[in-house]
Amino acid sequence: MSDTLKLRKDLPESVKWQPSHIYASQEKWEEDFTFVKEQTQKLAACAGTLKNGRDAVLSALKLYAETGEHLSRLYVYTSTNLNSDNSDSFYQGLYARVSSLYAQFGAAVAFMQPELLKLPKKDLKAYAADPDFSDFDTMLKDVERMRPHTLSTEMETLIASAHEVLDAPGNIYDMLTDVDMSLGKVKDESGKLVELTHARFGSMLESKERTVRKAAYERMMKAYAAYGSTFAASYAANVKGDVFQARAHGYSSAREAALYPDDIPVSVYDNLLKAVHDAIPTLNAYCAMRKQAFDLPTVHMYDLYVPMAKDFDAKLSFDEAYDLLLEAVAPLGKDYQDVVREAKTAGWIDVYETPNKTTGAYSNGGAYGVHPYVLLNYRTELDGLLTLAHEMGHAMHSYFSNKTQPFAKSDYTIFVAEVASTCNEVLTIQYLRKKYAGNKAAQIALIGRLLEGFRTTVFRQTMFAEFEMKAHAMEEAGQPLTRESLSEMYYGLNKLYYGGGCRVDKVVENEWMRIPHFYRSFYVYKYATGFCAAVALADRVLNGGEEAVAAYRKFLTLGGSMSPIEELKVAGVDMSTPQPVESALDFFASLLADFSEMMG
Ligand SMILES: [Zn+2]
Repeated sequence: MSDTLKLRKDLPESVKWQPSHIYASQEKWEEDFTFVKEQTQKLAACAGTLKNGRDAVLSALKLYAETGEHLSRLYVYTSTNLNSDNSDSFYQGLYARVSSLYAQFGAAVAFMQPELLKLPKKDLKAYAADPDFSDFDTMLKDVERMRPHTLSTEMETLIASAHEVLDAPGNIYDMLTDVDMSLGKVKDESGKLVELTHARFGSMLESKERTVRKAAYERMMKAYAAYGSTFAASYAANVKGDVFQARAHGYSSAREAALYPDDIPVSVYDNLLKAVHDAIPTLNAYCAMRKQAFDLPTVHMYDLYVPMAKDFDAKLSFDEAYDLLLEAVAPLGKDYQDVVREAKTAGWIDVYETPNKTTGAYSNGGAYGVHPYVLLNYRTELDGLLTLAHEMGHAMHSYFSNKTQPFAKSDYTIFVAEVASTCNEVLTIQYLRKKYAGNKAAQIALIGRLLEGFRTTVFRQTMFAEFEMKAHAMEEAGQPLTRESLSEMYYGLNKLYYGGGCRVDKVVENEWMRIPHFYRSFYVYKYATGFCAAVALADRVLNGGEEAVAAYRKFLTLGGSMSPIEELKVAGVDMSTPQPVESALDFFASLLADFSEMMG
């Protein structure tokens, strides 16, 4: 593959990101590195001083923010240069240095939260309300909010010292699945026996040859089942670690402990589950539609991944895709569109695949005061345009937040992180649906994309979220987590979600074993809530008039200045009620109706 790629030096600068916008030369980077090192030492010397009153607290917080801001720029400069060519030993060296500086910074500021909590409650409250502390009000309120769940410094130190042991289940899982385990061999489309890999699994599941996708699916399930007792032991240890941490910090459940730091009420999670359960008949109707589309006697789980769109291939150059994106974001306002237009030639985006460049796509908004950086590996299909729209959504969220908020409040939380990106994807699809109004193949491809987004991001992630919730509840109730109990519970969930539209083969009971996200507990529900919020907001942007657009635009400027639920309320959706998820799922039902009309 890589011999057909253009070399980086042969590409014009206009299609490469420009880390030099952060530091014009390596000397400048070194100067800033020295500066951050000195500041970090000063910061460490602040330990023990916060009891000395208002000025001592304020100067420590300012030092903390200023150092963090410079450190973030050092990091973005280094990672963008390294990710352009990961084999570059010079930037590998810089990366190691900046990582170690991050660790020193982390150690230097470790005193802050416990020392702030030792201050009288009324002092913390007064600081949070003091205009001189306005950059830090959110942070101070968060510290105060954590008070009921923060133990004495000695106890916190003791628990922190067990971190490596508590992280061990995830590491053992990674070693087994990434290194030691072999998935075995399956026949590909040409009948040749090939090694099944995690990367190959995805494309084989999408194969139009049913025997290929069935073989790949069954081989994968059996490969994991062969280590089923090991997976049960490692996952049970992970859940026990969560429950231990939650109890030690006085939470009523591991789930509450996971949601509390982001200030997300448990009811948000419950609402998601309830609304998704109510929409299961629509999911079943969607699955059943595949039966008709592919003329299958029954739909099995391995039939769910074949794209239903056949003939639509957009074949868009990057310039063409960019022009379409500009049209698609027009409803967000002319100034939004102008920034996106300028970003194209302003060194934000690294467009094409080159040797040793990082794969996939991402946006990094950490170069505060400079501009966001976007990595693409642009491909000329519909996917290429939608990935561009997605990453530019992230980038614009960072751009407006960084422009509006002080550094200390600029970074948005994971709970809202996928909203702006997904919203842009939906706006782009809706724009293309209008543009290709008479083109049936295009309509099927575009609606098909959204339907798959719902199935994989809303239904599937919510089912995962329900699995995690149940597994933790079982542990909390003293029920054993064994291979049998976990597999039976997982099989039951698959029957509940898919049983009305698919044949749920028993072998799916092993699937929980291969979901790495389960080692980062209570994380996946955010994919589902983020997707639903984005769909609801895109609808408001397109149909809600000026006020709705203004509300959404305000949201993009908020960074991390409010709790995520409050930020989304500003945008126009109240995730503490079931309404946004319900309306997103109503949209899913209407798409399905359009789709079935198209399919005839
Ligand atoms: Zn994203």
